[in-house]
Amino acid sequence: MKTLPVLLLLLGSLAAAGCADDAAVGPQSQNPDDTEQLEMLTTSINAIALSSINDTVIAGLRHMREEEKLARDVYQYFFEKYGTNIFGNIARSEATHMAAVKVLLDRYGVTDPVTSDVRGAFVDPKMTALYTQLTGAGAKSLLDAFIVGATIEDLDIKDLMDLSAGIAAQDILLVYGNLTKGSRNHLRSFHAQILAANGAYQPQFISKALFDSIVGSARERGRR
Ligand code: ZN
Ligand code: ZN
Repeated sequence: MKTLPVLLLLLGSLAAAGCADDAAVGPQSQNPDDTEQLEMLTTSINAIALSSINDTVIAGLRHMREEEKLARDVYQYFFEKYGTNIFGNIARSEATHMAAVKVLLDRYGVTDPVTSDVRGAFVDPKMTALYTQLTGAGAKSLLDAFIVGATIEDLDIKDLMDLSAGIAAQDILLVYGNLTKGSRNHLRSFHAQILAANGAYQPQFISKALFDSIVGSARERGRR
């Protein structure tokens, strides 16, 4: 739990840095927050002893590496199609999430499933199918694209929570915790856009109670 002074401090820094909102930053601007957070995260990971991880955990890492690429690729597609800043900004955040999982793959000597940086290219055929389905659904209108964004974050949070439940390795839990926090923020951003466009979103993967608690709470800053 955050103490009240810390919370007030966070709220203060949020108010001061108005550009922290995903929708407010221009597409050309750098995202120094993400780069800095990845560096700090890598330092923290390297300070944790290696665990012995089984095939299920390895499969989970490979899955998340591709799922973060799915998010990045879909948002890049929408950014090109609609030119809406939120997609460019969150796509960059997803690239950072991909890099965070890559740190773990390298650390454990796991083969990277991402062999091509080409948009929509995946090793897992389910990811390829999802890419086609999600970009198709979001191509109908900007509101549909925002709903696809919420759907991806909904799925991400569910997968990260499920995978985290079966893991003891502290370095992997640290990364998954950070990715989940990022997804909660992205879900808040997409949900706000959906409401602003007079749309609605019902969670498809996480519970309604968890969804309500996420979109009903403030954007989270910094690392845990
Ligand atoms: Zn992500
Ligand atoms: Zn995300």
